[in-house]
Amino acid sequence: MERSTMAVALGRGTARPGEPVNVPLVLSSTYRAGGPVGYAREDNAVWSAFEEVVGALEGGHAVVFPSGLAAVRALLELLPVDARVVMPSGAYSGTRRLVADLMARGRLSPSSSFVDVRDTDGVLRDASGAALLFVESPTNPMMDVADVGALCAGARDMDVMCAVDNTFATPLVQRPLELGADVVVHSATKLLSGHSDVVLGVLVARSPDTAAELRRLREEHGAVPGPVEAFLALRGLRTLAVRVERASSTAAVLAARCAEHPYVERVRYPGFGSMLSLVVRGDAVAADRVCERVRLITPATSLGGVETLIERRAKYAGDAEAGVPPSLLRVSVGLEDVEDLWGDLRDALDEAAPAR
Ligand SMILES: *Cc1c(COP(=O)(O)O)cnc(C)c1O
Repeated sequence: MERSTMAVALGRGTARPGEPVNVPLVLSSTYRAGGPVGYAREDNAVWSAFEEVVGALEGGHAVVFPSGLAAVRALLELLPVDARVVMPSGAYSGTRRLVADLMARGRLSPSSSFVDVRDTDGVLRDASGAALLFVESPTNPMMDVADVGALCAGARDMDVMCAVDNTFATPLVQRPLELGADVVVHSATKLLSGHSDVVLGVLVARSPDTAAELRRLREEHGAVPGPVEAFLALRGLRTLAVRVERASSTAAVLAARCAEHPYVERVRYPGFGSMLSLVVRGDAVAADRVCERVRLITPATSLGGVETLIERRAKYAGDAEAGVPPSLLRVSVGLEDVEDLWGDLRDALDEAAPAR
């Protein structure tokens, strides 16, 4: 089965006549005694349906969490106290902040380190003896691309667990478990759900034992997703393939045209996917002018929805500290017509450029 078919066909419950085609939203905190589920913190039919689809797409065993960061937090809970973690210096700022906080409080080793994910040899040197190599590729928002296969193979040789945040690429573009990763991380808030109406996360483990341990942590630590969120995410997931295809082809056109625009100094686009970053000529004020002048594109944070969003990332201290240029604009490409989007972006760049 192709992945575009899996996204549509799986997670639909039993195929008996008269059964609903969609797994119905189950809103009940408790269940009549004697069945497989007793209480809503244990499991939910809609979580399972969502997990079935994401697990098949990534080729592993999925466990859903109430946000991407809650998923990362659960992953880190698999590690012993004082474990050393190696992660990209360009990873999503929230993930870096979480790891830094756990280092500061003694949960993770203070020798945990942040590395340039493009430097495969350097990353593997650092990862020697670590408990977890956490990879993100492409990175948010610099769009740095790691050699995921080489990093996973190297980590495996050193007996280091390897996790890959696949939020930007999606399993249609990159499948880390096939490349040797142990766990895949997603902010399902983004492309998997795809409509900017849900906060949700998911981990996909290669081993069923790891997935079972993550389920146990979810139930015992109590951070469980809402059934409505899982329902909306599954509904969005049905169209993942057409959305990613459309947004990616538009992103490629926008990246090429932006590269020719005199007000753009540099385009950071890995050649695939629906995310790109533009470094505008000039300073933060110059880049802010672009965000103020777009009319169709929405200035807002987050990404992966049907509507195109633009944001100057270095306005956040976490991104500025990580070396994100002050005039870098991250663009999450949505599903609008490519010419409408280009017209809006071109006009905003033209209007924002200082008179020459
Ligand atoms: C948004 C994001 C996260 C965090 O996910 P939430 O759902 O916001 O908690 C993690 N990694 C990447 C790459 C992200 O873009």
